Amino acid sequence: MQRPCNAKIVATLGPASADRVTIEALVRAGTDVFRLNFSHGTHADHQQRLELIRAVEADIGRPIGVLLDLQGPKLRVGTFAGGPVQLVEGAAFRLDLDRTTPGDATRVPMPHPEIFAALQPGADLLLDDGRLRLRVERSGADFAETRVIAGGLLSDRKGVNVPGVVLPLSALTVKDRADLDFGLTLGIDWIALSFVQRAADITEVKAIVQGRAGIVAKLEKPAAIDSLDAILAETDAVMVARGDLGVEMPAEQVPAIQKRIVRACRKLGKPVIVATQMLESMVGAPVPTRAEASDVATAIYDGADAVMLSAESASGRFPVQSVAMMDRIIAQTEADPHYRDAIDASHTQPAANTADAIGWAARSVAGLLDVAAMVAYTSSGSSALRMARERPRASILGMTPSRSTARRLALVWGVTPVLCKDVMNVSDMTELAVDTAVKLGFAQPGQTLVIAAGMPFGTAGTTNLLRIAQID
Ligand code: PEP
Repeated sequence: MQRPCNAKIVATLGPASADRVTIEALVRAGTDVFRLNFSHGTHADHQQRLELIRAVEADIGRPIGVLLDLQGPKLRVGTFAGGPVQLVEGAAFRLDLDRTTPGDATRVPMPHPEIFAALQPGADLLLDDGRLRLRVERSGADFAETRVIAGGLLSDRKGVNVPGVVLPLSALTVKDRADLDFGLTLGIDWIALSFVQRAADITEVKAIVQGRAGIVAKLEKPAAIDSLDAILAETDAVMVARGDLGVEMPAEQVPAIQKRIVRACRKLGKPVIVATQMLESMVGAPVPTRAEASDVATAIYDGADAVMLSAESASGRFPVQSVAMMDRIIAQTEADPHYRDAIDASHTQPAANTADAIGWAARSVAGLLDVAAMVAYTSSGSSALRMARERPRASILGMTPSRSTARRLALVWGVTPVLCKDVMNVSDMTELAVDTAVKLGFAQPGQTLVIAAGMPFGTAGTTNLLRIAQID
């Protein structure tokens, strides 16, 4: 069961979708990658979900990716003595480290010394997804005195965002480290790192992961956008995490930032996921708004690798319908004649290196000879990524003897991952590519394939071979 679209669908699993029947229905409706959100649920919940995904994958016979989304240093206020309090515009409000005294209408504990260490007068704190805004007037090592700029009701443990400040925090909390170790023993394919502020955050995680999973940098802080090039150089993939991004920055800036990130990722050939509120109204309704359908289509016209569902598939009333709707929007958009113009117009010249030269040459050959399909024979996935970077018209078969590479490639634009046996030489590889393309219905006798690979086989990142194969 192959998905004929280029763009991939990431669906978050949650209480509304964590049973075997729904997971299978989500895959059949078009899910390529499942997101396990470690901000919620226990290790036992996630392990059970992963086992169900693997069982469905085995039944359906299509590699499915699993992305573990780490909670990251989500900052929160403490609790209040008498329930929610009303913060009134212009009033003074204090935050401090005194965890033992619950909050009231004049103060609340905020158990994060790192924030106090980094705050300066004039900085803004956003509470409860940006609904409330406080401006710092005075601060010290264990307190901040603020003025309420935008008031409202504040209740226990609401989130805190500090948009303009780079916090002296690692992107990995103690909980994240435990979750990461757990995920790596389970064999997840991608790790998403939340609240990335700098490239060093990715380096820290890479040192732990040691290549056992791909790293997705979630871009949701202004500091990350300021260091975009350095972060993209370090990470394997990116998520435009528009939920927190739209809290930390004015909502009107999010569309341009989204497009800038997608362009930058496409230039480098690194997968990019556009996430959050894509079909938000389908949390409670069987159809999306026209604006939501248009939002998904915009990401597809821009050439994003994947679009993501959060609450729609995790806790909404219509998880399967949300995936099916996303799939239909992708299919319709990719069938629009203007789609190809948009993809080609935003294509950039590859870098001057052997791997990109092969990807670029493969696309040229595919166009000139009208090939039936392109094949990347790949151990690390790199040859398939170089082909996908070119956003060719022809389908890309990502053939790999590595199960984890096949699963990771489920996230990549235009790539159909196929698990295959090891090959010893170019003629073995060609024969296997031809047999596979014919068997899966991508090609017929009399047609041509273009194949990219790296020699010696099995060595990561050596894309250096282009083969044109005529199918007898
Ligand atoms: C987001 O903020 O858009 C996002 C994807 O992160 P999370 O859902 O983990 O807050």
